[in-house]
Amino acid sequence: MKDPISIFWHRRDLRIKDNAGLFKALSGDVPVVPVFIFDKNILSNLPSKDARIVFIHQELEKIKLYYQRKGSDLRVIFDTPQGAFEKLCSQFNVRSVFTNRDYEPYAKKRDGNMNDWFQKNKIEFIGAKDHVIFEKSEVVKDNGEPYTVFTPYSKKWKSHVTENTFKPFASEELDNYELLEPEELISLKALGFDSLEPDFPDKTVNPDLLADYKKNRDIPSIKGTSRLSVHLRFGTVSIRSLAKKGQNYSEAWLNELIWRDFYQMIIHHFPKSADDEFRAKYSKIPWSDNMDHFEKWTQGKTGYPIVDAGMRELNATGFMHNRVRMVVASFLTKHLLLDWRLGERYFAEKLLDFELASNVGGWQWAAGSGCDAAPYFRVFNPESQLKKFDPELRYVKKWVPEYGSSSYPSPIVEHKWARQRAIDTYKETLNS
Ligand code: FAD
Repeated sequence: MKDPISIFWHRRDLRIKDNAGLFKALSGDVPVVPVFIFDKNILSNLPSKDARIVFIHQELEKIKLYYQRKGSDLRVIFDTPQGAFEKLCSQFNVRSVFTNRDYEPYAKKRDGNMNDWFQKNKIEFIGAKDHVIFEKSEVVKDNGEPYTVFTPYSKKWKSHVTENTFKPFASEELDNYELLEPEELISLKALGFDSLEPDFPDKTVNPDLLADYKKNRDIPSIKGTSRLSVHLRFGTVSIRSLAKKGQNYSEAWLNELIWRDFYQMIIHHFPKSADDEFRAKYSKIPWSDNMDHFEKWTQGKTGYPIVDAGMRELNATGFMHNRVRMVVASFLTKHLLLDWRLGERYFAEKLLDFELASNVGGWQWAAGSGCDAAPYFRVFNPESQLKKFDPELRYVKKWVPEYGSSSYPSPIVEHKWARQRAIDTYKETLNS
């Protein structure tokens, strides 16, 4: 019988430093084998050009190197989770599997299935909280129910913060690893993906940017926000280290991190909101079936420059500024009266920082159907948004160079008419 080992299963926590689950695993009394699984169930639904897979691949290269320097290695397996663990169990005497918890519906189902399988195989499955500051029911109303409105949630969230809340887990200081022969990382090609060379944003945020965040956060032509979303998505930075920065430099920015916790909590308690309207009454809205409008929206050819600039930024870079995300989402669900799920799916395909909980939260907020949503009669006026947030057209000129020339399309819907149609349709449905 081989000596027992523990496995640390990396998922959306692609870092060594301040990693709660890794710290827990390394604090145990048996050596740790770090593992990452390229999940065939997920990868089979993605297009072959997907910058997110390239991002993951690059980050895996870095952490693999770290583990190799420790005399160990990151075992990277391309399989279903169960298939991967069957392989691992044929090579090692696995006593326990440690991982960081994930709150999205697919992940919870996968972990539930794996938990059953581990139990059958007499393997302990141990989770840790790492992806958020407060999870599940840690921040609830006095009667124990989950909050569905952000402001009271954020107040309670802040009241729960103690001097230990943002304390890092010193996972990088422990090295109780199993010694392993180094293996080459599976190539993107073998995974079925093209090598792309996108520009990924920096992993760090400058305190000066945070100090000016409140002033600059709504101006899409400048770098007034952190651009850390892709790193938070894949856990290449620790949320605790960022929340600490928010506490030190910018409460407005800390509030955005709390929105992220809020949506993770919502998806945990209300998993159906990933597909269905959070407020049931909104599920009866008679959405338009004008797919030509949808196509024009995706291509950035609606004739509304701030909408078009946003969609072109998304298509070209995988990123869109938050203010513009709100404008394009409102435009799709109100001006075009198209189902929010169409927009949500399009963002899911294109966004580098795509995260189900925040994406569904953002879309349902715009459509009015979300837990703490914009009221249905609040229809962003794309012209006034442009005047307010891009008055010198810097953002628009960057992404829509033909704006102002005869080749720029005329608006696909007239603002006043579309606004009234949305308000009337929503009102009629909600009152029926
Ligand atoms: P910063 O302003 O620097 O904020 C710091 C971090 O806080 C972000 O990186 C993000 O993790 C979090 N955050 C900020 N705003 C929000 C918010 N409104 N809700 C939840 N978390 C927030 N964010 C995603 O991470 N993934 C998504 O798929 C996503 N889809 C969205 C869809 C719509 C329709 C809308 C309106 C918003 C969406 N957001 C999403 C939220 C927000 O737009 C992005 O998090 C933000 O633009 C990322 O840029 P940043 O890192 O510079 O943010």
